[in-house]
Amino acid sequence: MSDYEYLLSNINSLNGIGNKTSKLFKKKNINTIFDLLWSRPEGFIDRSKITKLNQLQIGKIQTVIVNVKKYNFPRKRNLPNRVFCDDETGSLDCVFFNSYEGYIKKILPIGSLVTISGKIGFYKNKYQITNPTHISSDKNAVKKIHSKYNLTDGLTEKKYNKIITDVLKKVPDLNEWHEKNICKIFDNISWKESVLELHKPQNIKKDGKFLRRLIFDEIFATLLINSKVRYNINKSKKKEKNFNEKVCIDNVINKIGFKLTNDQVKAINEINKDLKSNKKMFRLLQGDVGSGKTIVSLVTSLNVINSGYQVSFMAPTEILAKQHYTLAKKIFENDINIQLLTGKTEYKIKRTIIEDLKNNKIQILIGTHSLFQEKIIYNNLGLVIIDEQHKFGVRQRKNLSDKGGKSCDVLVMSATPIPRTMVMTVFGDMDVSIIKEKPKNRKDIKTYSKVENNIKDVINFVKKEVGKDNQVFWVCPLIEESKKVDHQSSIERYKHLKKFFNSNVGLLHGSLSNDEKNEILNNFLNKKIKILVSTTIIEVGIDFPNANLIIIENANKFGLSQLHQLRGRVGRGNKESACILIFKSTLSENAKKRIKILKNTNDGFEISEEDMKLRGYGDLLGFKQSGIPNFRLADPVLNEDLFLIAEKEIKRIKFEDENFSKYMKLLKLYDRADILSDLV
Ligand code: ADP
Ligand code: MG
Repeated sequence: MSDYEYLLSNINSLNGIGNKTSKLFKKKNINTIFDLLWSRPEGFIDRSKITKLNQLQIGKIQTVIVNVKKYNFPRKRNLPNRVFCDDETGSLDCVFFNSYEGYIKKILPIGSLVTISGKIGFYKNKYQITNPTHISSDKNAVKKIHSKYNLTDGLTEKKYNKIITDVLKKVPDLNEWHEKNICKIFDNISWKESVLELHKPQNIKKDGKFLRRLIFDEIFATLLINSKVRYNINKSKKKEKNFNEKVCIDNVINKIGFKLTNDQVKAINEINKDLKSNKKMFRLLQGDVGSGKTIVSLVTSLNVINSGYQVSFMAPTEILAKQHYTLAKKIFENDINIQLLTGKTEYKIKRTIIEDLKNNKIQILIGTHSLFQEKIIYNNLGLVIIDEQHKFGVRQRKNLSDKGGKSCDVLVMSATPIPRTMVMTVFGDMDVSIIKEKPKNRKDIKTYSKVENNIKDVINFVKKEVGKDNQVFWVCPLIEESKKVDHQSSIERYKHLKKFFNSNVGLLHGSLSNDEKNEILNNFLNKKIKILVSTTIIEVGIDFPNANLIIIENANKFGLSQLHQLRGRVGRGNKESACILIFKSTLSENAKKRIKILKNTNDGFEISEEDMKLRGYGDLLGFKQSGIPNFRLADPVLNEDLFLIAEKEIKRIKFEDENFSKYMKLLKLYDRADILSDLV
């Protein structure tokens, strides 16, 4: 067996690991010996100090040296065996459940002096240690500091430690995969040494070179695979698109009645350059809520259509798809055939759409996920636009690009500001255009917080706003406990508000029919309804410029970025806007800190960065659930410098060996190779 085969072998090939134990490890995402080796201990247990019995502290793990005095074996079910012990300062019982007398007599012979370590309990006025596992007549065998791992039920500390100790004795010396100058950054510490250091208890809190090197390896392997995906996509050359950009832009501007911001123009130019090149575009258009990404994507669509291709525009929700459709209709009027396709489109209409699409009679198809069903076949797809999507893995990215065929460019839009290191991880080395500047007429949104008890004040505030002909969103979070009736809280709030506002209140939630939803949204748009009570289905993208107040109930259910997104539903017109966050009770210190960030800035990029610092990156965008390989050691916020070094190094390698053949083994180790095998 080669060293690599050994490292990648299943842990049940190790002594002492059967199927049961390997299942427990699997729960911790540890499948191979390699996985085991780079799972960092989370703390350490210090059994090195001897404590006198009159100094014991309940609940702590302590080590004592005691005389074994007497046994008590009750021989009744459910009653534990006991061993009475003492030292010159006090006494202590060792308590054994489900144990054999013979075993106890062997490890704790009467009259002997033994060293015992365990968690100190207290029962019927006496100190005790229950089921002690660390016992020896040789005090040096017990007096140790050892690492503590994240265990799951059924996996004992002793077992884990035994396994890891055995494995650490056999770590192979692998050939160095990095160049000399990279190794130097980490003081030339080898992979093997780094792993050994990682598991030493005295290193738990240390952020040494050994750790940096292992983190770097993880980042490097991940970015390398992304780069490979990119390389494969780029290998197939596309036909350059050909269009007159000025005509397109003028056409659109005439219809919308405002001037594009500088950043919008810049983004359009960057995209045009991609469209006109023979490399497939894969570009992320990032811009805070309300920065005007939709117009950019519509101008782009027109360019693509004018060069003879079809466009497919996907939104995450039906409501948003509908809104984009309406806007596209308005801008393109009758020049272009635009259709809407969602899961709820009638069968007859859908059939016509499928036919027309095949025959190139439709130029833009706007819709939800249904746009990518197998039976939807485009005649000549030139651009896929995906709005408000930040949960793409490398694999999806490739599928998408395949769907479009040879000449298809891809534009992904997201309002959730993602730090560059994260973009590198999640999207690969995709190109990014950023719209930082908001349209000039935007005013800052004032943000307030209120405790639920004071809801009367909030209602009074709403009354005043409605009196001024303003419109209000009132958001109630989903209740997770009952998925079926997750709109419960919104229904109750709706009924409650009706008492004050009569027919001025409307209710929008996920279980309404399409027609009902449309009617309510139209009524809100036409100002027949002043207050729209809703679940978070309004979270992404929706655009109602007349709304200038948003109330968010049970606000601690949301992450900061999500609150910022919700808040971004208002402040789009010329009016002063506000956001009121309602909390069930007073806030914890941490929650207060987070809300303060939200109050202090309207800049989504800043908010997301601060939030990430407080919560860790994985949580933020729901990446943990979205099937994207998460890092075990690396953190895109804390290890930014290592990301940049890895990026630079990969660029250099690409120049010399575009297949990265030297690094295949490394990729295999880091379990990124499966993605690669998909590609060839
Ligand atoms: P987002 O980037 O969040 O998707 P939208 O594209 O929905 O933002 O735009 C938000 C609002 O701003 C829309 O009402 C849109 O018409 C308007 N808008 C877009 N660009 C400009 C601009 N340059 N000047 C003024 N208003 C604009
Ligand atoms: Mg949008």
